[in-house]
Amino acid sequence: MTTDIIVIGGGVIGSAIAYNLTKRGKRVVLLEKKYLVNGASGACDQGILLQSKAPGDHLRLGIYSMEMYKGLEKELSRELEFSQKGYLVLIENDMELKTMEDVVKQQNACGLPSQIISADEAMRLQPGLNRDAIVAAAYCPWDGEVNPYMTTFAYADRAAELGAVIRTGCPVTGLMIENGQVKGVKTPEEVIYGETVINAAGAWAPFIGQMAGLEIPIKPRRGQVYITEAVPQFVHKGVINARYIVAKHHPELLKNDTSKKAKLGVGISLTQSFKGNVLFGASREFVGYDTSNTLEGLKEVMANATHLVPGLKRLNIIRTMGGLRPYPPDSKPLIGYVKGLPGFFMAAGHEGDGISLAPATGKLVADLILDGRTDVPAAASFDVNRFDLMKNG
Ligand SMILES: Cc1cc2nc3c(=O)[nH]c(=O)nc-3n(C[C@H](O)[C@H](O)[C@H](O)COP(=O)(O)OP(=O)(O)OC[C@H]3O[C@@H](n4cnc5c(N)ncnc54)[C@H](O)[C@@H]3O)c2cc1C
Repeated sequence: MTTDIIVIGGGVIGSAIAYNLTKRGKRVVLLEKKYLVNGASGACDQGILLQSKAPGDHLRLGIYSMEMYKGLEKELSRELEFSQKGYLVLIENDMELKTMEDVVKQQNACGLPSQIISADEAMRLQPGLNRDAIVAAAYCPWDGEVNPYMTTFAYADRAAELGAVIRTGCPVTGLMIENGQVKGVKTPEEVIYGETVINAAGAWAPFIGQMAGLEIPIKPRRGQVYITEAVPQFVHKGVINARYIVAKHHPELLKNDTSKKAKLGVGISLTQSFKGNVLFGASREFVGYDTSNTLEGLKEVMANATHLVPGLKRLNIIRTMGGLRPYPPDSKPLIGYVKGLPGFFMAAGHEGDGISLAPATGKLVADLILDGRTDVPAAASFDVNRFDLMKNG
């Protein structure tokens, strides 16, 4: 079979890319080894979080992506359970307050209307918090939520309607490389040829890279998430804690913390789905490709979440998920043609931000492949060639 573009990976990133390229007239084949949302896109929270992005280029990309989300249900003609009701970042001590004051200043400089609010104001926006556990909060009304499953399926379905071939149960087992150029992929059934092969395999992107002798600096970072029975709405704002942002932007401030909570990277990430199920988590662990939910993870996530939101104790958990964030050393996605390997394009490494960044990534990839340039902001920051992937080449 011959096509224009082959996308490897049926997560939110591969699906968004397949849609954007098909919309612009390319013949696209998307190959997914198991089923759509088999990876992180099917085992994650639902935040389109701007407050958690690193102030600067990462945040600018996030704001751009949020703007795209606002029109996405209409564009794809599908319900995505999108909402923009804001997120609270709970601040539990003076060190976090000082750090968050600084982070908020940097966010404001990027145009994000986040602000520090009092603990009482936070309680007014989200009743049911433990007033004694927080000293203040940061709040941003631009943060939102979307259903990651519905988003991934919507992109893939719409791409298929426009002519893309979406093949599930179809692992890529090798790359076709001729005269130093990637010409296609091998699957158990057939060889598929294309002008460009896009590696959108999330945490598994390094295995695809190895097929071409590349060393891709992405590691799986597990997150354990818990889902309760459906209950009447009581989560009015998304809730995370400042510890997560401190860990992301100023890890040095937590280096002396030897608690289990710190070891597992536990934070609260609380949302409620349109159907009423409450999602909360999550851990941040380097344990290879193990997607288990562990007793230790359950205990620590639960202790932290019920301390901050005591009402969670009354809910029954009906489902657990363990997902693998594709984590690169600088937490920014790797996007673009790989220098020295024509025909091979990277689009992976979105870490804990892939749902938020999918619309911008889909457009960015299509622009770079079809036009060689883009109006997506700060694109150069995400260029894959900031790393030397050809170490083994
Ligand atoms: C606990 C947790 C909470 C999160 N919360 C949020 C959040 O609130 N907001 C946010 O923006 N992001 C969040 N994320 C991050 C987000 O889930 C990821 O960044 C995003 O899903 C990555 O999408 P992806 O398409 O790159 O990877 P994936 O969804 O992992 O997709 C990669 C796909 O490639 C396929 N594949 C692998 N190898 C092959 C092969 N050889 N051939 C064919 N197919 C292959 C896999 O089966 C998989 O389906 C969270 C992640 C976790 C784990």
